Amino acid sequence: DRNISPPRIRQLDEAAINRIAAGEVVERPASAVKELVENALDARASRIRIEIADGGRTLIRVTDDGHGIAAEDLPLALSRHATSKIDGTDLLQIHSFGFRGEALPSLGAVGRLTITTRATGSDGAMSLHVSGGRIDAPRPAALRAGTVVELRDLFHATPARLKFLKSERSESMAVTDAVRRLAMAEPGVAFDLRDVSDGEDKVLFRADPAASLADRLATILGRAFAENCMTLDAEREGHRLTGHAGLPTYSRGNAVHQYLFVNGRPVRDRMLTGALRGAYADVLAKDRHAVAALFITCPPTLVDCNVHPAKTEVRFRDAGLVRGLIVSGLKHALAEAGHRSATTVAT
Ligand code: ADP
Ligand code: MG
Repeated sequence: DRNISPPRIRQLDEAAINRIAAGEVVERPASAVKELVENALDARASRIRIEIADGGRTLIRVTDDGHGIAAEDLPLALSRHATSKIDGTDLLQIHSFGFRGEALPSLGAVGRLTITTRATGSDGAMSLHVSGGRIDAPRPAALRAGTVVELRDLFHATPARLKFLKSERSESMAVTDAVRRLAMAEPGVAFDLRDVSDGEDKVLFRADPAASLADRLATILGRAFAENCMTLDAEREGHRLTGHAGLPTYSRGNAVHQYLFVNGRPVRDRMLTGALRGAYADVLAKDRHAVAALFITCPPTLVDCNVHPAKTEVRFRDAGLVRGLIVSGLKHALAEAGHRSATTVAT
């Protein structure tokens, strides 16, 4: 219509931009916990304590003993696309969980966020509060070392998202699952997850520093898994499969205990779970699911982990090859354990 003049285009302000981005980065309390624990791991923490209340909806507090944030950089940590982890020149060489510089500004846009931190070697701690995208001036604070990130009233600024949250129980189960996955990714780090709703203090998950992945898996999946699993080690054209997978006799009625990691990062991937299912197809009934923690490592140039802001999806350059590696690696291990299937085992 020639009579309608075009609406003017305007630049959104930073708070609005962060709120929009937060929709992708922070889907539910578990995604906030995942981002904060990843930050603690990237800061080389050796102990991480996580407290939640009401399934993470009213409170998430992550305390770490990592290197902290330099006082002069603290406001930058809340600025979008500001990160200490990459310089932006090579997105295929990423060795940290984070790299997009989006988590803290997103959380500050959809909740009340307070960061208290003391950088290694610094003689004092600083604290910074942001709510609804408004950042207060940094203030001196008391903290011996490391960083405490406290997120209150998640999604108070985005009521639509608040309405989509599930029951307290399922949100807190999703939080526990996220922490469990990261605890498998980093066996040497101590984790302590508590529910502090209504002044309570209930341990939801705990893991002492483990000497090996096998020890950590025994803590998380139980001794019975440790005694009924196969150790994997297979290689194909620069891709390596390691980890542990349960014997067919140690299966479950659902697939919740299937943990997948690509270059140390917990991921969810249909191709990978499909390969896992395919490998057991001949030795497991259709309604049974293997318990497994599979670790794929490959040169960073062969996999893209920058597919989605939440960084839980990956794209392999050669997905068929990875599928084949998993299927043959698992079938080989199954055959060695005496569960030779009807079909020939590819080696
Ligand atoms: P990213 O992790 O992608 O860099 P974030 O928004 O999660 O982006 O964090 C921004 C920056 O704040 C990080 O690059 C890091 O320098 C700093 N930071 C965040 N959390 C911590 C922490 N727990 N300990 C030390 N530094 C942190
Ligand atoms: Mg981060």
